[in-house]
Amino acid sequence: MSVEESIRRSAELFLAARHPVALTGAGISTPSGIPDFRSPGTGLWSKTDPYAVASISTFRTQPEAFYEWMRPTAQLFLEAKPNPAHLALAELEQMGLLEAVITQNIDNLHQKAGSIRVLELHGHFREATCMGCHQVLRTEGIMYEYILEGKVPRCDKCGGVLKPKAIFFGEPLPMDVLLDAQMEAQTCDLMLVAGSSLEVVPAANLPFVACSLGAELIIVNHQRTPADGRAEVVIHKDVAEILPRIVEICRRQGAR
Ligand SMILES: [Zn+2]
Repeated sequence: MSVEESIRRSAELFLAARHPVALTGAGISTPSGIPDFRSPGTGLWSKTDPYAVASISTFRTQPEAFYEWMRPTAQLFLEAKPNPAHLALAELEQMGLLEAVITQNIDNLHQKAGSIRVLELHGHFREATCMGCHQVLRTEGIMYEYILEGKVPRCDKCGGVLKPKAIFFGEPLPMDVLLDAQMEAQTCDLMLVAGSSLEVVPAANLPFVACSLGAELIIVNHQRTPADGRAEVVIHKDVAEILPRIVEICRRQGAR
């Protein structure tokens, strides 16, 4: 199939699907200027061992090391804008052609694009939990200000260190989100994998769960993925180029 045909076929699948979902990874945010931290030699993870500085055990003893390391990334997250791929998924949802976005990203860009139902497997920075009294605080402004000033944010009640609701290495994934994502994988009849190389479990398992239960797969990713062989459509190109073209056809054909 040519790229053109693959795009057309993808739109057909979306228009015919009863319960389509999307699974996104770092590749959907790289066009927004957020580096794929897992790719060696790119971005910030190459300078420091993230498994050391962003692990929950280190955070308990040296939270200032995490906040110091996180500062440039926080700046990126603050300034990043959703790109055409994020906007395309938000539009699909508005048209009634997407039930949920399951994401491995913690950058909030799906929400900034207008997506409503976003399952964030690796958490987010919109809230923080006090390591002392466990109260949960909204972090709009606070967390980023603290990160940008290099201070460790503390609880206003007990003075305990605040931990962002992003998932650290060594921490379990949020169980409610994980269960919802697994339910979506079992319920969907179409899963679009966008910008994920499917290297990190449990997200990497979800397309296999979906297609083993009869769902069709569309994969749009620069690199090959372990699920390519199971997919109806595979497009090894930039999501920011391809997704808007799929959505454009859906729009022309008329949503449900
Ligand atoms: Zn507290």
